[in-house]
Amino acid sequence: MIKDRRTITALNGSVLVLNRFYMAVHVISVRRAIVLLYRELAEVIDVDQGRYMNYDFDSWLELSQLKSIDETLNHDDYEWIRSPNFEIEVPRIIRLYRYDKVPRLTLRFNRRNLFARDNNQCQYCHKTFPLSQLSFDHIMPRSRGGKTSWENVVCCCLKCNSKKGDRTPEEAGLKLFRTPTKPKQNPLLSVKLDNPKYEVWRSFLGNSSMTMEVV
Ligand SMILES: [Zn+2]
Repeated sequence: MIKDRRTITALNGSVLVLNRFYMAVHVISVRRAIVLLYRELAEVIDVDQGRYMNYDFDSWLELSQLKSIDETLNHDDYEWIRSPNFEIEVPRIIRLYRYDKVPRLTLRFNRRNLFARDNNQCQYCHKTFPLSQLSFDHIMPRSRGGKTSWENVVCCCLKCNSKKGDRTPEEAGLKLFRTPTKPKQNPLLSVKLDNPKYEVWRSFLGNSSMTMEVV
């Protein structure tokens, strides 16, 4: 049972997943990545001074142990998972040995991606809400031919949603915060990339950065 708080934080971090052709396909939690490594379904891709190295679970564990006792390293630069039996460095990128599907070509239109695009902010009253208090709104109502698309749907709080009802924003006396567009990059991924610890993902993102699933 892992109780160390820093380890729990580390386990909830994110790992970029590559398919067997080294194309980015997903972002998953560290917890799940460790399971995939342990079950020998994936390997770690480590970037060290611009060079890419592949490690299976055992060799990654071995390298982690060497690093953990290396006094020349600044240990604050690394994240660790510590259990009574082992100490392992958190991987940032893994590659699935047998997964050969290629990334999707279009960003999935769903609540999570839509809310992330709008920063969980009601596009009418500009306030930020927890997910449970958010809904989405068809700017031009569906009953009047409005499409379910990136350009016609926005994040909206429950209050504004009921105020607007089956009307256009003008009719309801509401004003859109900004004109919605289709995101150029996966909004959930953009948030991750603001964190320097995921900087190392960039060289693998390429075109799939726009469309991949982020959990
Ligand atoms: Zn609102």
